Amino acid sequence: MQYSLCSKCQKIQGIYFRQYSGEYLCRSCFIISIEEKTSRIISKFSMINYGDKIAVGVSGGKDSLSLLLVLNNIFERKKTSDIIAITIDEGIDGYRNESLRIVKDFCSKLNVKNEIFSYKELFGLNMDESMLLRPSEKMTSCSICGTFRRRAIDIAADYVGANVIATGHNLDDHLQSFMINIIAGDVNRIGWIYPEPIYYGKNEVKKIKPFIEIYEREIVFYALQQNIPFQSEQCPYQDESIRSEIREFFNSLEETRSGVKYNTYNSLLKISKILKNYDSSVKNKCRICGHDSTRAVCSVCKNIKILKND
Ligand code: SF4
Ligand code: ZN
Repeated sequence: MQYSLCSKCQKIQGIYFRQYSGEYLCRSCFIISIEEKTSRIISKFSMINYGDKIAVGVSGGKDSLSLLLVLNNIFERKKTSDIIAITIDEGIDGYRNESLRIVKDFCSKLNVKNEIFSYKELFGLNMDESMLLRPSEKMTSCSICGTFRRRAIDIAADYVGANVIATGHNLDDHLQSFMINIIAGDVNRIGWIYPEPIYYGKNEVKKIKPFIEIYEREIVFYALQQNIPFQSEQCPYQDESIRSEIREFFNSLEETRSGVKYNTYNSLLKISKILKNYDSSVKNKCRICGHDSTRAVCSVCKNIKILKND
């Protein structure tokens, strides 16, 4: 396809058409636009302050590697915050090994420290074992894995002394979570999507998502333009959840009604802000592990009890 001159620099032919704004962008202006947009999101929601130590959750996928590169480019220039990459090894034979290598090589190229934490070490069970031990398919792979991963990242951030946890979730991920919560009637959780950092735990760690206002396809394009390596292996336990159907639904709407995702995101923002203030879930400590929990036993301990049958 023959594109017009870049709408920003007006010098080089555009290689990317940003449908919702009508702009053509050359490689360099596209890369700058993603990094500037991330900076604006960070400022808009006060995600990072001077002197913060940021643990970036890096799985080896395009989103997390792009986030690491973008944050490194922003903060390496300013020298105002420390960055460390934390990687969680779920223990999935034949799948995780490739991404661990990709992350290790990428981090050493950027000169960023990478620490790896495994489910086996932290919970006494890896994903392969969990899949064999689960009592029924109602306990889905991704729900077990997601519960363990969130806790593993919290423990990892604590271990490396970080006070910020950054993850690469993009606008599309949040739209999907929003719709899943609506469908499941899990309205309280919508409040958790609001992008202002939530402080939690004894160390008041804050969780941030600096790509929350960026389309997934733009992160993919950024990763391609920056020659970020892609993992070729698919997780063998990836469940065909409703998430994929919602993703396809929004993608097909966006094709004919450009900007529809961004408009829905704006509605999500307003709704999640209201619900965040009305979140009445009582914060307790899990009586087994002592982590924050809305119930007497947290979901991690509950899953471990079921899987180990004790
Ligand atoms: Fe875990 Fe599901 Fe991701 Fe596989 S696809 S790594 S099971 S969350
Ligand atoms: Zn617990």
